[in-house]
Amino acid sequence: MSDELDPASLIVHAGRPLVEADAPLNEPVVFSSTYVAGGPAGYGRFGNSTWSAFEGVLGELEGGHALVLASGMAACAIVFDLVPVGGKVVAPVHAYNGVTGLLDRQASEGRITLQRVDIADTDAVIAALPGAALLWAESPTNPAMEVADLPAICAAAKAQDVLVAVDNTFATPLLQKPLDLGADIVVHSVTKFLAGHSDVLLGAVVAKDQETYDALALRRKTQGAIAGPMEVWLALRGMRTLALRMDKAQENAQYLVERLKAHPKVSRVRYPGLPDDPGHERAAKQMRGFGAIIAIEVAGGAEEAQRVTESTELWIHATSLGGVESMLERRRRWPTEPDTIPDNLIRLSVGIEHSEDLWQDLQRALG
Ligand SMILES: *Cc1c(COP(=O)(O)O)cnc(C)c1O
Repeated sequence: MSDELDPASLIVHAGRPLVEADAPLNEPVVFSSTYVAGGPAGYGRFGNSTWSAFEGVLGELEGGHALVLASGMAACAIVFDLVPVGGKVVAPVHAYNGVTGLLDRQASEGRITLQRVDIADTDAVIAALPGAALLWAESPTNPAMEVADLPAICAAAKAQDVLVAVDNTFATPLLQKPLDLGADIVVHSVTKFLAGHSDVLLGAVVAKDQETYDALALRRKTQGAIAGPMEVWLALRGMRTLALRMDKAQENAQYLVERLKAHPKVSRVRYPGLPDDPGHERAAKQMRGFGAIIAIEVAGGAEEAQRVTESTELWIHATSLGGVESMLERRRRWPTEPDTIPDNLIRLSVGIEHSEDLWQDLQRALG
């Protein structure tokens, strides 16, 4: 599809069958474990035309070559598999806890060596790079909402031949394009904003160059964490409305942060769209919007925060994020969440409901 199209148009039109008489508008779901011999795919674990449609759209949006996988964690895992045995990984102290947990285990079992850094501390990240095989970044981070200086850390990594992967789940390619900022690989939990309806688990990687793509494709093919065609079809269908959903969710987030900041029960609001947020200046430079995830700290501590999450009616008390429905949870209710995340921190995933309904419900729960 033409490079001149705005991503909002591209996301609607890319990845469709050829426009010709009686052609379907949507790529069909192909349920087949194998194919008649003689073609390029050959077997269901090696390729699927529904995957290709989804990958075409995501690849164009991110500016690379995409691969869909069974979950966000499956996508992360094949990237970590690129690290040679004993190789050094530089990763954030705060990141999605499934990722930090997997890296910790791999380090404790001697599969990798691991150096954790504050990903927002550019000097610390750069100081950790010598000898590294992989720099893993997440920005904004889940759930601390820290913003990494992606152009600076990617440039430093490139100068030392360190591969850079960025988890772009919170921003989506509509708000941030890590490959354009210097990264080699983008990772997504497609489960979240891309699919957008809390009905599928899915992941994706996007590689900037063919060689990295080939290495990742080989891992998907041989390790077998492949996506079901129905899930991919649902994700592609959900992704068609991403631009609209993101616009509305961000508008709601902006509306809510202004009110949350003024609320006496909220001791801190973390959102890079706030002018006094530590990540604001960076986010304004490298993102096209500040996203729809907010973290708040509740005055009165963990118990009070937990009570808030159990007192809403419209906001759903659940883990996960990026759906059309607003969700919230206290992250430290999970024992896997690091204790450097405040125990009174609630992560809010803002959906597309009416902003005033969202605020009234939150205000009631805070009261
Ligand atoms: C949810 C999430 C993941 C893991 O994705 P799954 O689809 O749940 O496997 C990875 N990174 C981030 C930032 C996430 O929010």
